[in-house]
Amino acid sequence: MALALFNTIGRAVAPFISLVPGKVGFYGCGPTVYNYAHIGNLRAYVVHDILVRTLRRAGFSVTHVMNITDIGHLAGDNDTGTDKMISSARERGKSVLEVADFYTQAFFTDTERLGIMKPTIVCKATDHIADMIALIQRIEAAGYTYRSGGNLYFDIAQFQSYGELARLRLDDLRAGARITVDENKHNAADFVLWFTKSKFENQALTWDSPWGRGYPGWHIECSAMSIKYLGEQFDIHAGGIDHIPVHHTNEIAQSEAATGKSPWVRYWVHNEFLVLDKGKMSKSLDNFITLQTLVEAGYHPMDYRYFLMGAHYRSQIQFSYQALDAARNARKSLLAKLVLLKKLAEGSPTGSPSPEHLAAFDSAMEDDLSTPRALAALWALMHDQTLAASDVLATVAVMDEGLGLRLLADSEARVPVADDSAGIEALIAERTEAKKQKDFIKADRIRRKLNEQGIVLTDTPAGTRWHRGVL
Ligand code: AMP
Ligand code: ZN
Repeated sequence: MALALFNTIGRAVAPFISLVPGKVGFYGCGPTVYNYAHIGNLRAYVVHDILVRTLRRAGFSVTHVMNITDIGHLAGDNDTGTDKMISSARERGKSVLEVADFYTQAFFTDTERLGIMKPTIVCKATDHIADMIALIQRIEAAGYTYRSGGNLYFDIAQFQSYGELARLRLDDLRAGARITVDENKHNAADFVLWFTKSKFENQALTWDSPWGRGYPGWHIECSAMSIKYLGEQFDIHAGGIDHIPVHHTNEIAQSEAATGKSPWVRYWVHNEFLVLDKGKMSKSLDNFITLQTLVEAGYHPMDYRYFLMGAHYRSQIQFSYQALDAARNARKSLLAKLVLLKKLAEGSPTGSPSPEHLAAFDSAMEDDLSTPRALAALWALMHDQTLAASDVLATVAVMDEGLGLRLLADSEARVPVADDSAGIEALIAERTEAKKQKDFIKADRIRRKLNEQGIVLTDTPAGTRWHRGVL
C-alpha cells in the first residue's frame, strides 16, 4: 500500500504524490512564543512529527520547515486584539526578544522530551521581515491590495477562489462586514499585510517598508518563509483545524496572488483539537496544562505521546488523567515486555524484522497516519509467541522509529541489574575487556548504562570498583 493522506482541500483521503519524485517539502505552522506551549499545541507538533517519520519510512527525503512566530500574531485572528508577544512582554516586564528566546527554548525542551525530531529548518519571523516585504510588494504589484487608515490590506474580492479551503461563501463573508470592528476594511475578511498606523503605533519593534514604518501581519510570515525555503509550490502544509478558516485561507490567497501559481500547496493536513473536560484550554484559567505539569504529576513525557497515539489525529481527544493513566500502564507494560525480550535475546545474533508484522504497521501508518492501528500492530507483535525474541526486537526497532516512542531506549535504562551484584560485576568485566581491546565507545556505554541505574564506577590501579550512588 502507498501513503495516502486526508487532504482538507477536497475533504478526502487521497494517494500522496510528491511534486518532485522522492522528495517532500513540508511546512508546519510553528508556535507563537509568548508563553509555554500547552499540551494541545504539543499535539499538533507530535502529529507533524508522525507525518515526517511516515514520509521518511515511505522513502521520501523530507525538508521540514517550521516557523517561530515572534511578532505579529494578534489575540484575534481577524486583526483584532493586541499582539500576543507584546502583551506578554509587557506583563512580564521583559523585551519581546527576551520573551521569544525564553519560550522558544522551552518549546524545544518540550518537543525533545516528547521525541519530536527537530525540523530541517527553523525560522524566526523577525529574521525574515525583508522576505515578507518583498512578497507583499509582489501582491501589491499584482493588484490585490489597498491602503486604508495607514495599513495595507489584502482585498479578498480580487481573489476569485478566496475561502475554498474552508468552504467559505463570499456572500456570508460580505454579510460579516456589517459586524466588522475594523472600519478600514472593505470586507470583513480582508486582512492586514502591513500595519503602520493602528493601535500598535507605540510598540518597540517596527521596520521601514514601502508603506511606512510598521510591522507585518501574521499570515504573511508563513507565506514568505515557506516560499523562501520550499519554493513557490510545495507538497504539504499542516496546522491545527483552527487555522482553516482564517490563517491558512489567507496564506493561500496571498501566496497565489503573489506568484500567480495554483495550487500553492498540494496537501493540507489539519489536526483536531485536544480538549479538556472543562472545555477549551485557556492560559488565563487554571486548566492550562503544560508538559511540565504532567511531569510534575509523575508522568513520563512519553506517557503523553503514547496517549496521543491512541487516537487518530483527525479525532478530537478529550484529555483526562484517567486516560493518561491508562496510557502510562500500557507503556510500562510494553517496557517490561521489552526488558524480558532483551534478556531472552542476550547472546543471540541480531534478529530480522518480521515482514508480516511490519506490513500491518506500515499499512496502518500509510492509511492517513492511523496510529491507533499502528499501536495495535505493535501489540500483536508483542503477543506473537512464534517469533524469536531477537526478531521481535528487530521489528520493534522499526515500529519504534515510526512512532517515535523511544521504547527500546527507555527499556534499556530499566534492565534490572542494579539489585544484582553478579550482573554488575559481569558488566564491569565486560567493560574492562572492552578497554583492553581499545573499544572505548563500548566501555563508555557500559559505564553510562550502570550510571543510569545508580551504580558509580571508580577506576583504580587495582581495577574498577563500584558503589551505589545517587540516581
Ligand atoms: P499557536 O502557538 O497558538 O500558534 O498554536 C500552535 C499550534 O497548535 C497550531 O497549529 C494550532 O492550530 C494548534 N493548537 C492550538 N490549540 C490546540 C489544541 N487544543 N489541540 C490541538 N492543537 C491545537
Ligand atoms: Zn502559519
